[in-house]
Amino acid sequence: MSIKSLLIANRGEIAVRIIRAAKELGIRTIQVYSDADSEALAVRMADEAINIGPAQAAKSYLKAEAILDAAKSSGADAVHPGYGFFSENADFADAVVEAGMVFVGPDGDTIRMMGDKVSARKTAAAAGVPTVPGSPGRMDDMEEAREIILETGFPAMIKAAAGGGGRGIRIIDSLEEFDRLAPQASAEALAAFGDGGLYIEKVIKKARHIEVQVMGDGDRAVHFFERDCSLQRRRQKVWEEAPAQALNEEVRQKLCASAVSLAESVKYRGAGTVEYLYDEVSNEYYFIEMNTRIQVEHPVTEMITGVDLMREMIEIAGGKKLSLEQENIGFSGHAIEVRLNAEDPAANFMPHPGIVQDLTIPGGPGVRFDGSIYSGFAIPPYYDSLLGKLLVWDETREQCIDRLKRALQELQIGGVKTTKPLFQVLSEDEEIRRGDFDTNWLEKWLTENIGLIKSQEGSEQ
Ligand code: ADP
Ligand code: ADP
Ligand code: MG
Repeated sequence: MSIKSLLIANRGEIAVRIIRAAKELGIRTIQVYSDADSEALAVRMADEAINIGPAQAAKSYLKAEAILDAAKSSGADAVHPGYGFFSENADFADAVVEAGMVFVGPDGDTIRMMGDKVSARKTAAAAGVPTVPGSPGRMDDMEEAREIILETGFPAMIKAAAGGGGRGIRIIDSLEEFDRLAPQASAEALAAFGDGGLYIEKVIKKARHIEVQVMGDGDRAVHFFERDCSLQRRRQKVWEEAPAQALNEEVRQKLCASAVSLAESVKYRGAGTVEYLYDEVSNEYYFIEMNTRIQVEHPVTEMITGVDLMREMIEIAGGKKLSLEQENIGFSGHAIEVRLNAEDPAANFMPHPGIVQDLTIPGGPGVRFDGSIYSGFAIPPYYDSLLGKLLVWDETREQCIDRLKRALQELQIGGVKTTKPLFQVLSEDEEIRRGDFDTNWLEKWLTENIGLIKSQEGSEQ
């Protein structure tokens, strides 16, 4: 069934991104919104907008009946979940299908298998993809868990089976720390995901976070090469790029092929990302998780491959087969994305909602801005603070960083504090320019360079 009308069960920049793709496909768009989002850009852009409840996400964007009612009353024939919210919720995906509509993503059973990180580890191992050494399953029995930890060795990482957004993760250096931190991690995971299950992984030191974009149509899968998302704060990505300069061509081919094998082993349908940690010293890579949805950073891949991933995922949901053969997917140049959050990077990234004033969006060759703001827009304080993503493309990584500097200079977001000064300082940093960093680099750098960010912030005013 080809999709004629699409309900967007999300908000912010990803809702805008979905509407853009749908409009180009001639699909009618229906945007749901909470009381706090009535003036959202996505609400203004969509063909129809439906209020689904109060500002708190639990009473609107995470209220399945409200979204399904809106979908039915508007005559939508498909629901796009974006990222976060219901995007990896198997029961929601099933409910959409039971209501006679298309869920833009894999089916509920695939989400169940890959969304639980413990079961995903098993599926990956069965498909021949190396996983991080650790517990074979969930740690239900604490005595058994302690034995596994001793076998794994220290430092080890406690992780949440249902994890996401860096939550429920703790590093432990001893059994005493395990005893102390496991209940905390479990409680955090229970509160965030409704599932307190934990597992253990060995800590990979000096790792790069490298992930492979895949797309499947149920029969076959292809990859769109990799992204390096090693620049993280609290295990959340802040700067992403493609391709990963740390990989040589041989490792790149093996890594990307392993992601395709994994996707094909579960007859994957839709857009997905297979995440790995890459040890630059040994050239080994290890599967960590699969995200069964579109990701925040998908546009860097669009910029180096020239493929509209959002369009492709909507068309596949509508029943089309993959439009591309692997040998026809190539990449050129380099792309970088920086996440502009309404946060004060000089004050421990404190959220900084407010009214956007004097907005100037940069342009020129190789520049893209995927955002959800306009001059006069009041940023609601209830949701995550991503305002938009600035993306740049150029032929080489070095030129790409120069272009990023130029685009950041042009970008003006008045009225609120944003993470822009952080990226201005980072784009001048020698180690960043050399590409010499791992997943712990940014946090350490932040403790040493807060003064630089403060003075950058000051010079903007
Ligand atoms: P991606 O894997 O797509 O790059 P992230 O890993 O940054 O995205 O985030 C994964 C999901 O967690 C996203 O759907 C995002 O909406 C959500 N998320 C990100 N940051 C936060 C946060 N601070 N609090 C709650 N949820 C978050
Ligand atoms: P989430 O579901 O919260 O995104 P991930 O399993 O993707 O959790 O891990 C998030 C980040 O935590 C990784 O990108 C990496 O920086 C760090 N991390 C996760 N597992 C390990 C590990 N075994 N060793 C070292 N770092 C890890
Ligand atoms: Mg992850």
